[in-house]
Amino acid sequence: MAATTTIDPKWRNSVRPLGNSTEECPTDYLLSNFDAQSADLKREHELFIEQVLAKILRNNEEVRLHLTGRAGGPGANGGTLAERRVDSVVRLLRGLGIPPEPFIVSELPRRPLQPQSEPSAKPGPGEEQAVELRVLIPPRLRVVLKDADRVRNYALVIDVIRDALSPLAKRAGRELRIVQGHHEYGELELVFEAGDRGTRPPNETMIFGNGDGSVFVATCEELRVGGGPRLPSPTAHYIDPAKVDYVSAVVRVFDPDEPEFAKFVGNIAVHEIGHLIGLEHSTGLDSFMTETVRQLLSQGRSKTDMRRVLAGSMSFRSDHARRIVCAMRTGFYPGGASVKDHGEAPR
Ligand SMILES: [Zn+2]
Repeated sequence: MAATTTIDPKWRNSVRPLGNSTEECPTDYLLSNFDAQSADLKREHELFIEQVLAKILRNNEEVRLHLTGRAGGPGANGGTLAERRVDSVVRLLRGLGIPPEPFIVSELPRRPLQPQSEPSAKPGPGEEQAVELRVLIPPRLRVVLKDADRVRNYALVIDVIRDALSPLAKRAGRELRIVQGHHEYGELELVFEAGDRGTRPPNETMIFGNGDGSVFVATCEELRVGGGPRLPSPTAHYIDPAKVDYVSAVVRVFDPDEPEFAKFVGNIAVHEIGHLIGLEHSTGLDSFMTETVRQLLSQGRSKTDMRRVLAGSMSFRSDHARRIVCAMRTGFYPGGASVKDHGEAPR
């Protein structure tokens, strides 16, 4: 499962949150425990840089990274060694494809090694041989909906997403902007694809999104009720649409022209954004991350029931909400943030 915080406990000897950063959702870090007189990165430093820092920088071109080297202790010739340590971090990130723009290398601290952000803290063992990293997250959080105008009333899709995410962005100290377009750039991106239509199998086997940033609009339009279950097994999680038996006897649940359809797609969109942020499914029909919809569908519930649930108002479980706030605050989306960065198997 994807990590939910930025620092893996295994790295803790050499990577920790710095200063005023909250322990749970840090944006400032200390890479410590460099060998005396050495600027070589430790394995833990490399893993953190590759698995967290590079992802944050790659995903959002507006993020800046502030670096300060430390090289203290008896007999240390501070300046150059501290500089070389910063350089090691920058070089690894450049090697991972990060352009030069994000890097802000600060004036090296002269002698007192205590950074301003933690005035009372004395450097612990190994912390005088270190690099301070501060990830500067832009105040605006852009969510881009590519080709959302495939949905007739897409303004309602935007409303659903805004209602769900705007309060969480605010808790993260950021302002949510949702943009509909095709060539736009966003920190979080969803692509509205057609998906399959017509001969698609109805109801229980339909896949409305793929967990890596796609929403299948026509598949949502084709949602029907009345067929029996055709899952390969009761626990099957992902079904290859090509391999599913067709089931007859069906009524369409939504008309693509009606506002309820757009609300349904909005709920699916929020669900898919949840996956981009790294959330797993949860139970409860009024949860955005519900998987129970599949069960509901497989039980051949009535059209009325399905409309009430699927186009109804939903919310995030509190721990999911907390993780979304954390992702927005740190700029780190364990689920991959968009189709730019394919992460895991379809869900
Ligand atoms: Zn899902």
